[in-house]
Amino acid sequence: MDEHTIARHLEDHGVRYTAARRAVVEALGSADGPRSVSELVAGLAVPQSSVYRTLAVLAAAGVVATHHGPDGVARFELAEWISGHHHHLVCTECGAVRDLVLTPEEEEHLGAVVAGAAGRARVSVEGHTLEIVHRCEECR
Ligand SMILES: [Zn+2]
Ligand SMILES: [Zn+2]
Repeated sequence: MDEHTIARHLEDHGVRYTAARRAVVEALGSADGPRSVSELVAGLAVPQSSVYRTLAVLAAAGVVATHHGPDGVARFELAEWISGHHHHLVCTECGAVRDLVLTPEEEEHLGAVVAGAAGRARVSVEGHTLEIVHRCEECR
């Protein structure tokens, strides 16, 4: 994660990279998957209302992406242009989400499957996401 690139990107979108925004970006950058607001607040010296506002600003500027889990909770992560392309492991029980990086070979296979299915559906591919649903260690 390159702080300067993020700062410049925000500047281009007319958004100041304040200490609170920096703290949220750093927390998301060090997490191993998307985090809910309550999960984020626990590790930050920033009030919950401010975390909500900060996430909304960062999402509008394209720095933060939202993940909607099976538990109906919105979780947030850095956009893929910052964090790199990846997928998710989602627990069906508690909703916990972890990042999953495929090998280049696996990405190639998945890309071919997606391209074939998109061709049949007559749509052009802009991207793909893969979720492996499971029960996490704590929920088993
Ligand atoms: Zn779980
Ligand atoms: Zn992929």
